[in-house]
Parts: sequence; C-alpha cells; structure tokens
Amino acid sequence: MKQYDYLIVGAGLWGSVFAHEATQRGKKCLVIDRRNHRGGNVFCENVEGINVHTYGAHIFHTNDKEIWDYVNSFVEFNRYTNSPVANYKGELYNLPFNMNTFYQLWGVKTPDEAKAKIAEQVKEAGITEPANLEEQAISLVGTDMYQKLIKSYTEKQWGRKATELPAFIIKRLPVRFTFDNNYFNDRYQGIPIGGYNKLTDGLLAGIDVRLNVDFTTEKDTLAQLAETIVYTGKIDEYFDFRFGALEYRSLQFDHEVLDTENFQGNAVVNYTDAETPFTRIIEHKHFEFGTQPKTVITREYPKEWTTGAEPYYPINDAKNDKLFRQYKELAEQENHVIFGGRLAEYRYYDMHQVIGSALKKVRVHFGD
Ligand code: UDP
Repeated sequence: MKQYDYLIVGAGLWGSVFAHEATQRGKKCLVIDRRNHRGGNVFCENVEGINVHTYGAHIFHTNDKEIWDYVNSFVEFNRYTNSPVANYKGELYNLPFNMNTFYQLWGVKTPDEAKAKIAEQVKEAGITEPANLEEQAISLVGTDMYQKLIKSYTEKQWGRKATELPAFIIKRLPVRFTFDNNYFNDRYQGIPIGGYNKLTDGLLAGIDVRLNVDFTTEKDTLAQLAETIVYTGKIDEYFDFRFGALEYRSLQFDHEVLDTENFQGNAVVNYTDAETPFTRIIEHKHFEFGTQPKTVITREYPKEWTTGAEPYYPINDAKNDKLFRQYKELAEQENHVIFGGRLAEYRYYDMHQVIGSALKKVRVHFGD
C-alpha cells in the first residue's frame, strides 16, 4: 500500500484540476511543484494591492458552458473583455481586426468599403492558397494591415520569419466587419474577482501540496509515494531528452511599479513595430478595474528558449511535432503514468483548453 493514490507533478491548472477531481472521487493525492508557489503560469503576485500576472497576461474565455460553470464554482468572474490597442510607431489601432481598425487605417466607414479595400489588396498580392502565416494574414486583412499590425509583432514574438510560421497562429484572431473590439468570439469571458490564485487555491483545497520539489532530481524517491504518477511537465525532460530537446518560445517579463494611477488606459497595448524590443505592455490593474493610487506595468520581451528558461509557447512546426510524436509513443508505453497539460502534450493551449483536456482525461481514467 503506497501513501498516495496519485503523485501529481506540477501544480498548474491541468494538475490542479486532475488533483481536485481525483480527490472528489475519494482518492488521495500529493501535488508537487518545483516552483515556490501553486498555480503554474496563472499565478499572480499582489503588488500595491494589484494582482500582477507574474507569467504574463491570462484572460479567461470559453464557449463551453460546462467549463465556465466549473471555474465559476470556485471563484466568481468579473466582466472584463479583452480589447487590446496596437501602437504602431505612435499610431493607435483597435484590435482585433474590425471596423474600428479598418476606419483608423483607411478611413472606410462601411463593411462594404472595408471588404472592397481588403479584396483589392489580396488580389494585388496574388495569393490563392495561403501556405504560411504571412500569406494567411494578407488574405484575411490585406497588405497594409499585415505590414503595420502583424508582420513585425509576429516576427518579434516567434523569432522567425512570418513566411516560416504556420498559418494557424494568426487564425486565432477574429476578423470582423462590425465595430466590435472584443478580442475573443467566445460566449464567456472574464478574470477571477480577487485573482487567479483563488481559482487554484479552490481547486487544491484540502490536498497535500509540496513546493520547491523537483521531480526530475528526486524521481526515484517520489515515485515510491504513489500508485500512479500524473506528469504535467515537459515530456522531453521526463525522458531525459533522449531524442533531443523540443523547442519553445520563451518570454522575459520586466515588471515595474509606477507612481501614477493610470499609465496607458488599457490592460493590453501591443507594440507592433520592429524597432520596439518588447511586444506588449500589460497594465494589470485594468483586468480588475482597479482604482489603487499606483500602477504596475509589465513589458514582455520574447526570447529563444534555452535550458533553464521558462518554456511558454511550443513551436508546433513540422520538425518539433515529429519529435513530439516520438516522445508520445514512449509515453503511451509508460505504465502507471498519465501525461497531460501544455508541456506534456506540447500544445499551444489556452486556459479553458487546459481545463477541458484535464476533465476529459479524468473521465476516461475514472471511466465515468
Ligand atoms: N498578432 C499580431 N499582432 C498583434 C497581436 C497578435 O500579429 O497585435 C499575431 C501574432 O502572430 C501572435 C498571434 O497573432 O502570435 C496570436 O496572438 P494572441 O494574442 O492570441 O497570442 P498570445 O496572447 O497567446 O500570446
């Protein structure tokens, strides 16, 4: 008889949902994390009374009522709607691409005028079947928009030419012929009132959690503690990088407290030119309509992932996806180990997708 039914490696959203659901089913869980806090990348630090998104902006959105009800059963969500502003060399544009943006760029006032302008530019570019991000973007919104709002932002973000990136990345963003600055099409959207830690604390309530514990270095002892391991870390690291390392895009966050009440008037401002070294500035208080006397801003600098850096975005190109499939095959043969989450599945997951993936795995595993 081992002490725990499940050892959950990683206290992020995937691991926390699994731990919660297993506990609800009468199982005993131990959650470990190599960091000194719970919540993985949704963790927030309170600075000057403001919940600072330590690992970058997290905005919850979903179309799935079940997932929305699930998160709301732990914490109430506010009515925050993401409407980023793009700053291109001092010119401001609304995002995502919508009638406001088309008006700001071309002075067009009706959907027909905007569509005609885009059609003219797509025709000039001569793209019939978009084969990469650049071609996909131009065929969606035309050359002007691509040049000012997409090309340099994308190339900074990914450290690769837009012609070398998969088209699906840009398909995440809506293109709308209405005056609607909502960045997402999803039915439900918001930020937990009081911050994301309330969500992870709720999920992990009553569950044993040990922080500053590194599974990789203490694998043999830790594995003795439980019948089954639930692993949410990097899949290549689990197998000691035996086929080579999967690539990621990493980020550096420079947080700054400013002695001003309102720095930029919006939670998210993207800098879409090539010269500005960061991609965006986040002003955290606006996620929760904060009225604190000070403000906290974060400049986000993309960088290449190297060992020791945080792996944020998987690079789902052909080469890496192939390597991932090799690791996945090994994972499928591993007895008593369940793999899940953004790092173990090597997927560009949003939060609602992480929760959906964990709940699905729970149902399959427990057969309910
Ligand atoms: N993007 C862009 N300009 C912008 C914002 C986004 O070109 O001002 C592109 C860019 O390629 C980015 C992708 O759209 O990687 C997805 O953006 P999203 O905001 O969904 O990325 P995330 O918030 O996950 O970093």
